[in-house]
Amino acid sequence: MPAKIIDGKAFAATVRAQVADHVAKLEGDHGITPGLAVVLVGEDPASQVYVRSKGKQTVEVGMKSVEHKLAADTSEADLLKVIDDLNNNTEIHGILVQLPLPKHLDEDLVINSIAPEKDVDGFHISNVGLLGTGQKSMVPCTPLGCLMMLRDHHGSLSGMDAVVIGRSNIVGKPMAQLLLGDSCTVTIAHSRTKDLPDVVRRADIVVAAVGRPEMVPGDWIKPGATVIDVGINRLDAPEKGEGKTKLVGDVRYESCAAVAGAITPVPGGVGPMTIACLLANTVTACCRANGLPEPEGLTA
Ligand code: NAD
Repeated sequence: MPAKIIDGKAFAATVRAQVADHVAKLEGDHGITPGLAVVLVGEDPASQVYVRSKGKQTVEVGMKSVEHKLAADTSEADLLKVIDDLNNNTEIHGILVQLPLPKHLDEDLVINSIAPEKDVDGFHISNVGLLGTGQKSMVPCTPLGCLMMLRDHHGSLSGMDAVVIGRSNIVGKPMAQLLLGDSCTVTIAHSRTKDLPDVVRRADIVVAAVGRPEMVPGDWIKPGATVIDVGINRLDAPEKGEGKTKLVGDVRYESCAAVAGAITPVPGGVGPMTIACLLANTVTACCRANGLPEPEGLTA
């Protein structure tokens, strides 16, 4: 039987609709509008596209969107001042500093200067610690989106064998924590893992977050396993015409789909869920800041 395609684009639309409903309720019942501030330093073209898309979707769900675009040579002190002002602004419930930052800025210092309760990316060291100890935290958006899709597909994940390929702070490690929180038996594989194909073959759930185009072939996948492809890799596609490119994931889609029970496509899988989860985190942060009940099903 061919794998079920997990449609992240459609799922993200339902998450955004839930967020929009909750935003309308906050506005109607309490006169509160959740606000998200995005800080962009420099002119990296990919970051500019992400920031524009985040701002547009924030407004579409009825939230307030604020953008701070700072010059590439902004000093650390000036950036920290912008963050401090946002930390103290009661109309702002979520703050996101677009990464990567220019080399002269200390990324850890900058991220850890965001008030943890407004850290909607979930990268602040306090949120990392809270997640690691199973406490209420802000959860990184990409792994949160993966978890939502897995829960939706499987119901309970309890007792399943999960392999996360990649150990980055923004995807691999928090993904592993979330799967552990849902009682999976979790293996984190990485560039030094021995016998990676055999490790992956044991998994009921494979999350690939490597950044290597089509690295995982179908014969690494246990029949019936669920494959979540986080990778976004842009490749030349001369077959589409001169200068054209295409996006591929970290798994070889056709061969994995032939064996898997379910799989996320690239594009249209994990990607759309990431911004939807950013909006979900912002509404959650707003509810927490105001001592109001959080929307159900929108966080870990
Ligand atoms: P990263 O470069 O920080 O981490 C990659 C990880 O892969 C590392 O931990 C490394 O140990 C591991 N790795 C590298 N080569 C390997 C190999 N041969 N075998 C096993 N493991 C290996 O990357 P990241 O930030 O975690 O992102 C991973 C991918 O996910 C990238 O393609 C990125 O573009 C994509 N991404 C997508 C979204 C989204 O919204 N869909 C969000 C974030 C990242």
